[in-house]
Amino acid sequence: MTGRTEGIVLRSRTLGEADLIIEYLTKDFGTRSAFAKSPRKIKSRFGGSLEPFTHARVALTGREDANLPRLTQSDIIRSFHPLRENTRGFIKACQFAEMVLKLMPSEGRSHDIFMLMLWGLDGLEKDPASTFVPLVFKLRILTLAGYAPALNGCTRCGNQATVFYPREGALLCGACSKEGPALGLSAALIGLHKSLSAFPLEKLSRIKPSESLLAELQKFVDLHFIEGVNVHMRSEKFY
Ligand SMILES: [Zn+2]
Repeated sequence: MTGRTEGIVLRSRTLGEADLIIEYLTKDFGTRSAFAKSPRKIKSRFGGSLEPFTHARVALTGREDANLPRLTQSDIIRSFHPLRENTRGFIKACQFAEMVLKLMPSEGRSHDIFMLMLWGLDGLEKDPASTFVPLVFKLRILTLAGYAPALNGCTRCGNQATVFYPREGALLCGACSKEGPALGLSAALIGLHKSLSAFPLEKLSRIKPSESLLAELQKFVDLHFIEGVNVHMRSEKFY
């Protein structure tokens, strides 16, 4: 892949003495690694644009290697410098980056996940202590990556059901129930999950659930993630 797009720096690593490999979430081309020649050695034209979570307009050319395009231009759109200065926010942003790298395919449509990442970074920069932003990020990235829990009745027979089986990733009714971990979900929680999954990002702040319902949702999303999604991922254990 070569061309111009917008990118968010997910992480970088050094190559040799002075070169860098930057891993981007791009707006148009999925996640992409790019080679940056000597950004630390000389007074670089890239400036601070290679710092983690920088949102930049980038140009990648394929001359170096087809699988590792070379970064030829990087202009900061938003630096997210205050976010990097806050340890709490920075750690959460690193978890976002890890989820993107583990859950999203490296190619294909990435516009929605790109916009989610920008929304998440913006939310963390404004309120590094937020629990709402990481919860919504996790819930929505699971949906975008194809791991949405099935919450419309029993997944086997279609009857009404309120007990969630994370290993099924779905609700099961009493007749279809099985062994293993399960969690009863309230109608309010199922409704909140639906709203937070589907609402436009810019309107999410209008949803004001109670603390207790949010805590219930957090427990549900974590259980779904650890029991249901984790087993499908390459890593042994994801935080
Ligand atoms: Zn059933």
